[in-house]
Amino acid sequence: MGTNGTEDKLPIFFVENPDGTIDGVAGSDSIAPPPANPRLWCHHCNTQLEFAAGASYVQCYLCRTMNAVHTGSQLGGRTMNMLCTVCGTSNLAPWGTAYVRCGQCNTVSDVTHIYTGPNR
Ligand SMILES: [Zn+2]
Ligand SMILES: [Zn+2]
Repeated sequence: MGTNGTEDKLPIFFVENPDGTIDGVAGSDSIAPPPANPRLWCHHCNTQLEFAAGASYVQCYLCRTMNAVHTGSQLGGRTMNMLCTVCGTSNLAPWGTAYVRCGQCNTVSDVTHIYTGPNR
């Protein structure tokens, strides 16, 4: 019996694990939180309203009240409607504004009489 065993060297495969390279940690840990829309509370009916960032006014979907967006505040601000005496356009302004410029004809109206109310 001839010994043909010429395999004096067993091939040894070194599987080098590339341990140093981080390749696939795209896991659930790296999910960024969804961009939260700003929200505020309707000053009239206390409903929480979500609105798009950058909006100045948010209309409550429940009571239709317009809420003024105040940066840093979660409570909707009161608004008032100024009816332009020149062109009749109704202009929305945050409550407390003394002078409102008409968006249509640029007339500036003094609206302080709104705050004093009917009783002088
Ligand atoms: Zn409301
Ligand atoms: Zn006007």
